[in-house]
Amino acid sequence: MSMEKTLDKALLSDWIAAVTSGGWQVHGPALEDGIWTFKPVAASVDLDYPNVKQAPKDFAFPQREIFFAFEHIKGEAPRLKEVKPEAPQCAVFGVRPCDGRGAVRMDKVFSDNVNDPYYQERRKNTAYVGLACNAPPSPTCFCKSVGGSPVSSEGMDILLTDLGEIYIAQAATKTGEALMAAADKLFGKMGAADKKQLDKVHADAVAAPQRAVKDAKGAPAALKAGFDSAVWEEMAKPCIGCGICTFLCPTCHCFDINDEMTGMSPLKGQRVRTWDNCQFPDFTMHTSGHNPRETLGTRLRQRVSHKFRYFHENFGMLQCTGCGRCVSECPVGIDIVAVVNKVAEHVA
Ligand code: SF4
Ligand code: SF4
Repeated sequence: MSMEKTLDKALLSDWIAAVTSGGWQVHGPALEDGIWTFKPVAASVDLDYPNVKQAPKDFAFPQREIFFAFEHIKGEAPRLKEVKPEAPQCAVFGVRPCDGRGAVRMDKVFSDNVNDPYYQERRKNTAYVGLACNAPPSPTCFCKSVGGSPVSSEGMDILLTDLGEIYIAQAATKTGEALMAAADKLFGKMGAADKKQLDKVHADAVAAPQRAVKDAKGAPAALKAGFDSAVWEEMAKPCIGCGICTFLCPTCHCFDINDEMTGMSPLKGQRVRTWDNCQFPDFTMHTSGHNPRETLGTRLRQRVSHKFRYFHENFGMLQCTGCGRCVSECPVGIDIVAVVNKVAEHVA
């Protein structure tokens, strides 16, 4: 790491104040109606928390986004007015390592064949101040088996590690260095004892047991071989198509684009992008009425294969970061780890 310092926990609010006065909106985890979610913070932030219910992907990829407004007055040329994304500088404190890795995957998607200007505009103004998981925050975590780590700084600008009375702050990007430099006098030098304690906390975190995809490296080939497996329909039977699994996921990014009318005389409206969901029956519905993914099994296969096969074929990495949200929040208990393991077992 380029910059490694200590921060007394009592000084966290002073750092946040300094970051805020540097022009950043600071967001952090807040408990609202029993649900942890990222909210703007004015003074301090509670970093003693498990994980937010919904991944922070919406900072760069909001659930609903207007691209442009249009108006057509009879006899005149249609008028288009582009709506530029509002992209204030946001520093998000408390992002867990699985969600940092999620951001890396979202960046790949939105800068691949097309550089999505709406995503890019927001993303360049978003900084992630991550928080290492000293212990898995949920029994459904499985980041290690999909190539991650509870102390990964991938996708982060800064990684914080909780050492009891202090945090160790490790900057991973220039933006992270700047956020720390904004309050340089608050940070202390990391001494040998701090480093020893940090290494021990990280080693214990990595050693902590988690659930696991049994053979994540072999998953792309296994899912390819198991494309026609009967396991898909069998395991998808309870699915009610609610879409929670994809909406909460840090890496699901499918969207729909619609023209919403706001008036008929004159004809006017706006073009809007909204999150879409491969678990909805009409996700792949053609105008002819034909639906290539008519059954629950074909839709489950698409979701799981995108995470463990297609994304790997396109970008050389698994798309699932093992956050476990789709497992813990599925109302009928469909478990992506069990599905991948079962298809692989069936193929073997
Ligand atoms: S959360 Fe569960 S029930 Fe809902 S769409 Fe996903 S797999 Fe189906
Ligand atoms: S597929 Fe499930 S476990 Fe994997 S990153 Fe998405 S929500 Fe998390």
